[in-house]
Amino acid sequence: MINKVSDDFYHITLPMPFRLRHVHVYVLADGENLALFDTGFNVGGSYEILEKDLGSIGRSIKSIRDIYITHVHIDHCGMAGLIKEKSGATIHLSAAADDSNQNYSRTDLLTAKVKSFYRTHGFTEKEVDDLIELFSGMRNIIAVFKGDDRLQPNEIKKFGKWQFEAIFTPGHSNGHTCYYFPREGFLLSGDTILPHITPNLSPDLFDEQFRPLSSFLTSIKKVEKLAVNKIYPGHGDVLTDVKTRVRELQDHHAGRTQLILNCLGTEPKTTREVSREIFGNDLPDFDKFLALNETYVHLLELKRQNEIREEQKGNNLVYIIRSRRDDDCLVSKII
Ligand SMILES: [Zn+2]
Repeated sequence: MINKVSDDFYHITLPMPFRLRHVHVYVLADGENLALFDTGFNVGGSYEILEKDLGSIGRSIKSIRDIYITHVHIDHCGMAGLIKEKSGATIHLSAAADDSNQNYSRTDLLTAKVKSFYRTHGFTEKEVDDLIELFSGMRNIIAVFKGDDRLQPNEIKKFGKWQFEAIFTPGHSNGHTCYYFPREGFLLSGDTILPHITPNLSPDLFDEQFRPLSSFLTSIKKVEKLAVNKIYPGHGDVLTDVKTRVRELQDHHAGRTQLILNCLGTEPKTTREVSREIFGNDLPDFDKFLALNETYVHLLELKRQNEIREEQKGNNLVYIIRSRRDDDCLVSKII
């Protein structure tokens, strides 16, 4: 379904086979030429829908000159390779997103990292196997692509009459980028700000320095400071009250951090155990994975803030609240 938002600016909704059931892509026009922001999932007739929708405004896939990616999750970039192949479009994305994309195609290394991480954090062998199988299925539908242009932070881009800025907003994913149109006062937010759901936060298994939660909180503050009166998200309805949504997201994470602290008692717990207490155990495989990630990024931040300790217990990492004694020990070591 294509909607004209304003002159030379369109919004297309494409299908997604799970969870949110849809993803939005945005289109700028300059005469015959188009710039596409995200591409949608490479499944369920998405390509044909995109082709038909562009046809209804007198253009085609071949009219696409530029593809701007918000982040390299398959619902947002799944058709980038295919569209580039048909149109010769230039793919723009942040360096971190480009790196992640290359890393995702290192299948053996990625599988080894996934196995090691999720085992360490308490998934059973069966859960790890189910996860690998799920990922293999997803990888099979990705049209592999290589980025052409690595965006710089706050880089200004032009497309016909349009001028916009690449705002780096790591958090939901390491190399996430929003696209800011200062003259028109809107932002294409990808999955950084969504109207009804809190974007999931996950670790980057190839970048241990990445702190998803603190990055996300910094990113949404950055968005709040922009002169934006409309946010066009990757999923869901257009947002106008940016401040309220940012506050809700901040409150959500503060609440979840507290919940996790309450859940950590005197006994050390794995990420999986904490995740099970908070999100329950009766979850589909993909949700179990998201729940563990979400729990982990909070534990990681609490560890960095010295609120909790991480210990090795057998093959697992476990977490425990730092006691007064830990601090005394630390002080005596320093002295
Ligand atoms: Zn998404």
